[in-house]
Amino acid sequence: MKQPIEEVACMSAAKSNTKAKPKTDGTPKRGYLSERKHHAFLLGIEGKDCSSCKTWHPLDAYGIAKRRWDGRREVCKSCRASKTIEQSETRKPYYRQYNALNKEQRLQASRKCKAMHRDEVLQKRRTYYEQNRQKELEASKIYQRERRRTNPWFRLHTNMATTVWLALKSKKQGRRWQSLVGYS
Ligand SMILES: [Zn+2]
Repeated sequence: MKQPIEEVACMSAAKSNTKAKPKTDGTPKRGYLSERKHHAFLLGIEGKDCSSCKTWHPLDAYGIAKRRWDGRREVCKSCRASKTIEQSETRKPYYRQYNALNKEQRLQASRKCKAMHRDEVLQKRRTYYEQNRQKELEASKIYQRERRRTNPWFRLHTNMATTVWLALKSKKQGRRWQSLVGYS
């Protein structure tokens, strides 16, 4: 969104009331004289005032805008970024509403897409795992160890699982698993 134009007292003073129309004789650059933020040097660095936060920044702090008279935007990068965040916040309800209204349609689309690429995705996953089996196992081991170290509940759980497993393994002795548990 375009920022409201602030008159500045420097270069624009002479043509303060020229809300100039774009000239027809081929002046393609945006930023009419009256709107221009005069460049100012600070410690030998060229810069200008941001039209939003009104503070001086070096030219680097402005995004590239090739069609503007000085090739830079009027609003500094950080102002633009915060503006974007703000806008995305204000648009959230709209998106939420849209998604709610089109829920069924969106669900169907997503299902269709998933179904279409199911084999592809599975195949990809399988190939990746086969190619990186050792790496994956290592990573899993490290993750489990870390989790055992930091999560007492998880440690207890795995200890119990291991005990039960060992007990079953040693004491089963040829009996069928179903008879041991009592149901199949
Ligand atoms: Zn700014």
